[in-house]
Amino acid sequence: MTTNTLPRKLTKEICMECGAKCCRNIAIEIEAPTTTEYKEYIRWYLAHKNVSVFVEEGDWYVEFHTDCRMRKEDNTCAIYECRPQMCREYGYDDDGDINCFISEYPFNYEHEFHSLEEFDRYLAEEAAKRRTRKKPARSR
Ligand code: SF4
Ligand code: SF4
Repeated sequence: MTTNTLPRKLTKEICMECGAKCCRNIAIEIEAPTTTEYKEYIRWYLAHKNVSVFVEEGDWYVEFHTDCRMRKEDNTCAIYECRPQMCREYGYDDDGDINCFISEYPFNYEHEFHSLEEFDRYLAEEAAKRRTRKKPARSR
């Protein structure tokens, strides 16, 4: 579904048709890899199955691709009335516009890593860029 065909409000029918994509992962903000310690944390996350790391608007997140145990077969929530606050707020941005998988999927992340090898390549490329930037200008 593209942005200009979005409904004004999410409904149960829309969420069921979507397949409850937002009930199938957890994303937690993490430190950007600015130190060896933070880089190694990310390498460790990415050594695991069903874990990815992405960057959105400059912020880094680790994402665990795992279904919520409360999601029912029909993609409704088994604890809808007392679902976590995160679930209540999800789906809209600060302006009240729909902002979830149906509006943005696939997301335009600045970076997305699905393996330790991908992340290592990124680190090597970033290191090469820094070396190039550091090279002094050639004098005549
Ligand atoms: S991603 Fe959006 S449309 Fe899909 S289930 Fe979640 S809130 Fe509903
Ligand atoms: S608690 Fe309910 S609404 Fe929240 S992620 Fe799980 S199934 Fe989805």
